Parts: sequence; structure tokens; C-alpha cells
Amino acid sequence: MVIKNVALETVCGITSVLPANTKIEVAFAGKSNVGKSSLINALMNRKSLARTSAQPGKTQTINFYNINDAMYLVDLPGYGYAKVSQSEKEKWGKLIERYLQKSQMLKAVFLLIDIRHDPSANDKMMYDWIIYNGYEPIIIATKLDKIKRSQLQKQVKAIKTGLNMKSDGIVIPFSAETKQGREEIWNLIDSWLET
Ligand code: GDP
Repeated sequence: MVIKNVALETVCGITSVLPANTKIEVAFAGKSNVGKSSLINALMNRKSLARTSAQPGKTQTINFYNINDAMYLVDLPGYGYAKVSQSEKEKWGKLIERYLQKSQMLKAVFLLIDIRHDPSANDKMMYDWIIYNGYEPIIIATKLDKIKRSQLQKQVKAIKTGLNMKSDGIVIPFSAETKQGREEIWNLIDSWLET
């Protein structure tokens, strides 16, 4: 995808009506601080259109970024932030659930996991939840630049094992610093746009 125009088109909170978009959507989920804003900015070639988490967990919205009037990148609220109250977490869960169940145009869900760490209980829950809603999660293993090359295979394996992934499940290592993995992610998305 050659990025020509990007715009934050819709922001949905817990009481919002979700947009009835007519172009495909791909969504990004992951715990707070995993590098989701950095990834979305890198995909869009923007430095700071998607917020980066100065105040993690504060804004619990679903943000729809219109890309070239051809598709949407959908930023789901980050989860697992300890300071958020239980009732906030429940509202957040309902919002995401409503989106996963209702969107007519959602093509795929990417789940971000920090390449340095084994998946957490929340990550596993999110992974299973995406499957429950009928999607095969694609894993993006973030912050690739923070590990040595020699650790890569081991860390990818730990993620696959931790999530109990199928052997053919996809894990794409990514770094917002070096942009490694960016092309692979766009190639996947582009392949869905052509079909
Ligand atoms: P979000 O809460 O998931 O949106 O995470 P952010 O994108 O705000 O990133 C959280 C922190 O991790 C920030 O300090 C980022 O600069 C840093 N970060 C994100 N991605 C990378 C990466 O690929 N490499 C490195 N070294 N740091 C990253």
C-alpha cells in the first residue's frame, strides 16, 4: 500500500453507534504499552497520528483510520492496564465485543504481543476471544529491536506455545524503530484488498 491520505475518521466510545463502513477494516488489539500506537503510526507513515501512551489506558475508544479511502485500520483500546477499575474494564470489554460481533467489514484481527515476554493471561483471553468471534488472530510480535537476532526463534516459539497456536498460525516480528515487518503486514492487508 502506498499511503496517500490518512485520516482519523471515527472515534467510538462505549455509548457510540459503530460506523457502518463500506470498505474493509483490519483491527489491532493488544495490552497497553505493547506498541500498538507505534505500529499503527508506522503503518501509516505518520509520527504521531495514533496516540502513543503518555497516559496509558486513559482513552477507551475504538479509532477508525481511513487509509486512501480504500480501507480502515481500527485501533482497539489497549487492555490490561491495572489502574482501570473493574467496571471500566467491563465497559471496555462490551465495546470490543460489540465491535467484533457487529462489524460487517472486519476482515482480520491482529493481536500484538511484546516479543520479549511470554503471553499474559489477558493476552490468552484476548486470543481466545478473537477466535470465539470467528477470526483467526494474526500475531504481531512487537519491539523486535529489543532482542538479539539469536533470540528470535525462541521468542516466537514461546509466543506460539503460550497462546496454544495452531502450527500454521502467523507470527510477524515487528519493530517500530527499524520498521522491520512493516512490508509483511501491508502485503497481507493488500492481499485482502485484492480479493
Ligand atoms: P501502546 O500503548 O500499545 O499504544 O504503545 P506505544 O506505541 O505507545 O508504545 C509504548 C512504549 O514502547 C513507547 O515508549 C514506545 O516508544 C515504545 N515502543 C513501541 N514500539 C517499539 C519498538 O518497536 N521498539 C522499541 N524499542 N520501543 C518501542
